[in-house]
Amino acid sequence: MMVRAPALVRCARTARVFSGRVFLGWEEHELELVHSGKVRELYADGDDLIMVASDRVSVYDVVLPTPIPGKGQVLTQLSLWWFGQLGDVIPNHVISGTDVPAEWAGRAIRCRRLTMLPVECIARGYLAGLGLASYQQSGTISGVRLPPGLGEGSRLPEPIFTPTTKAAAGHDEPMTYDEVAALVGGSMAAELQRATLEVYRRGADLAATRGIVIADTKLEFGLLPDGTVMLADEVLTPDSSRFWLASEWQPGRPQRSLDKQFLRDWSAGLDWDRRPPGPAIPPDVVAATQARYRELYTRMTGRE
Ligand code: ATP
Ligand code: MG
Repeated sequence: MMVRAPALVRCARTARVFSGRVFLGWEEHELELVHSGKVRELYADGDDLIMVASDRVSVYDVVLPTPIPGKGQVLTQLSLWWFGQLGDVIPNHVISGTDVPAEWAGRAIRCRRLTMLPVECIARGYLAGLGLASYQQSGTISGVRLPPGLGEGSRLPEPIFTPTTKAAAGHDEPMTYDEVAALVGGSMAAELQRATLEVYRRGADLAATRGIVIADTKLEFGLLPDGTVMLADEVLTPDSSRFWLASEWQPGRPQRSLDKQFLRDWSAGLDWDRRPPGPAIPPDVVAATQARYRELYTRMTGRE
């Protein structure tokens, strides 16, 4: 069974900069749980948020009963690494990757508490997943028309912005650019598109130097009280993106993935209707998923 943290946790903190002074040693601190998502918990700490990535994994928006040990650390450390690479594209929500309660060290980020924009900002450079399904049905993705003749895994002529709704429950639905503009305003829509495509391009170029193709990615943005747009949530992780080995990429067939696709493919072979409760993951599939997440992290960052 999945164990969720209680609404209020007492946690010991190590060092904390507060009002310009540094308190060393252990300090009791109460944090309020403000959101428990499929994968992450958000706690309020004064004006800051502590975002804690669990080892939970979701497939088709259903959290599976089996955790992937170490996954939360990989997502958090990889996101921190990417935030560092992308700082000049757009400001981001990170305050610290280390000033977090000791019990969550490695899997938590102290970040700015933002008003999240109700759009999932997706960039695609290759055809896969729901984008492929939409293209095959209509020749378009989120209203963007693509040339005929593309197949599974095809590289697109240029990266495209294919936003969706950010549904509180259930599945996200495609949105056209005009629908995004109607929801958040024209200049905000333009900034979301610019930042999403630029993060994708920069990420894909960097990944290419490590022999990795980033097929697509999903980003989330939020606003500071003064209206500044910031990149938030997680960035270019195997939960939010598709990663393929460049040496094995071959359009016209499914690609071997260093991401969650492995679990989707495994679950597709089961007699499961994609509704809760999700199936337990057998140990060999847990290990293979873990290995993929680790391999991606090591290849990208050069760290173990
Ligand atoms: P959702 O569909 O809302 O993303 P989820 O189940 O995917 O749900 P998680 O990814 O597990 O949720 O939890 C992360 C949540 O934190 C997301 O709702 C995300 O929008 C939100 N979030 C990320 N960064 C920030 C931030 N800086 N300020 C406020 N909320 C944030
Ligand atoms: Mg999420």
